[in-house]
Amino acid sequence: MSDPGTPGPSKETLVLTDPKFLDHDPGPGHVESPARLDAIMGELGRAPIAGVRLETPRAATAAEIEAVHSAAYRARLARLDGQYAELDPDTAVSPGSWEAASLAAGAAVGAVEAVMNGRAANAFALVRPPGHHARPAKAMGFCLINNAAVAAAAARRAGARRVLILDWDVHHGNGTQEIFAARDDVLYMSAHQYPFYPGTGASEEIGVGAGKGATVNCPLPAGQDDADYGAVFHDLFLPVGRAFDPDLIIVSAGYDAHLRDPLAEMRVTERGFGAMTSLIAELAQEVCGGKLVLLLEGGYDLGALALSVRASLEALTGRREDFPLGAGTDPALAVAATRDALRAAGRPVPKT
Ligand SMILES: [Zn+2]
Repeated sequence: MSDPGTPGPSKETLVLTDPKFLDHDPGPGHVESPARLDAIMGELGRAPIAGVRLETPRAATAAEIEAVHSAAYRARLARLDGQYAELDPDTAVSPGSWEAASLAAGAAVGAVEAVMNGRAANAFALVRPPGHHARPAKAMGFCLINNAAVAAAAARRAGARRVLILDWDVHHGNGTQEIFAARDDVLYMSAHQYPFYPGTGASEEIGVGAGKGATVNCPLPAGQDDADYGAVFHDLFLPVGRAFDPDLIIVSAGYDAHLRDPLAEMRVTERGFGAMTSLIAELAQEVCGGKLVLLLEGGYDLGALALSVRASLEALTGRREDFPLGAGTDPALAVAATRDALRAAGRPVPKT
């Protein structure tokens, strides 16, 4: 029996989000629109999920952002506060963007802190702008601050010796890969449509120097469905993740591999996203006491996005979702290429 005066560890799933994320407006007609979060919050309001606690985040500090971005780049973003500006062909800021981006990165840190100190069982930061294309000194692909990288750096400071970042957004997280390419304490794993934007993420990209083997890319042809993603998890991500033995798992949770997404050509359903979340939550239970943080990245069909986020949240709160059997185009070739690249570098994937 625990001391009744001392609250035990929370079993709740923490959701960090803020209406100020809607103030980031990349312009009329842009797919990364405030309507994305509106759709998600509308869906969660329509039928709330038991075991989810909603909180608003604090903004990330300069030091938290500068752990993965240059001071000059952070200062440039801050100077654009209150203005409209174009930072790259896909990426623009509006007067509310700096505050939204600071809060998004802060939500990523807050999610990590709550999970690391046991205040939440796991967490999902429902944020925008997204982060995984943001480079150390450059905005890119709708992203200003690399939220997953800021979160991983915060986790290291909070005592995690090894952090696993799994990126299931349909685009390769080039920014996250670049930030941690030479490090062996942060493992970056991504499954993504390939060849495709942003052009990186080949099987042969496995990290550099001390980080060799701590970058794992599974570039997939278009058309992969739920069962295909299930095979990638079972044959690659789970054995690599288990061997890495992380103290925290962070997911760059994009939902643009969905069947109905307008930007990509994958065929994942909301059930598939629920199954991915169940599997990674099980891995987290096995290796790190369930410490798992999801961060919203892409996902551009509003209805598909809302239902897929719901499926992930239901999995985080304990509903088990399995991958359906049967495969679409079969990812075996892509998985084999990645395993070959890791083996050639002396980092073979352990047997399942
Ligand atoms: Zn994406």
